[in-house]
Amino acid sequence: MVDMNDAVQVIRDVLERYENDLPAGLASKVKSVNPAKIFFILSENNYAPHFDAYFRAWFAVTNVIACARPNEAAPTERIIGIAKGAANAYSKFACPAFVAPAVDPLNRRIYVNAESGVTIGTLYHEFIHFLSHGSFYPEFYALGGRNPIILEGVTEFLTRNIAPGIYRDRASQGKYDSQLLDVLMHAGGGGERTVGMLTGLAFKGDLSVIKTLDGAVPHL
Ligand SMILES: [Zn+2]
Repeated sequence: MVDMNDAVQVIRDVLERYENDLPAGLASKVKSVNPAKIFFILSENNYAPHFDAYFRAWFAVTNVIACARPNEAAPTERIIGIAKGAANAYSKFACPAFVAPAVDPLNRRIYVNAESGVTIGTLYHEFIHFLSHGSFYPEFYALGGRNPIILEGVTEFLTRNIAPGIYRDRASQGKYDSQLLDVLMHAGGGGERTVGMLTGLAFKGDLSVIKTLDGAVPHL
């Protein structure tokens, strides 16, 4: 089961790998934060109410925008399954971890269901979300359509790019394989040029590459 020792390792490894790709000063600010104020690794009973609250207040909207059929009368009920007042959105989605979507990374929180069977690889993936520029997460993601696919593919690319052991952990579980493949196909492969392009997008909010990835650009 993942714990706070894993979280401390994840923060250290990711900041070491991407320190020079982050906005100036962000790495040192994040290092000064107590890891227990970044990662909330909880039992399922304690995790589910947080997932439910954020899902209803925020993720549900993007899911409906991304997945509703043309002229569908009640997409929220079909997609979200909570319109009839189901006790808990987690019982339908069982999403084991998420990042509360504040625009400023330092105001975000990473919630993890420790009893879901996730490995440390999931903590790496979530911490990439945590460090992402506000123009990418949540703004770009929130437009729905292909954007959540691109967001997850880019995040997974940067996760697997941290170190070979993390690549193996993620690949062996097939985590976000289809989103990753989508991004790699549009980016023209996974070489250094792609690393530079995707770190610029995720960490600096450089949306100029979005057309290459065939996403919708936010008008901020
Ligand atoms: Zn993700």
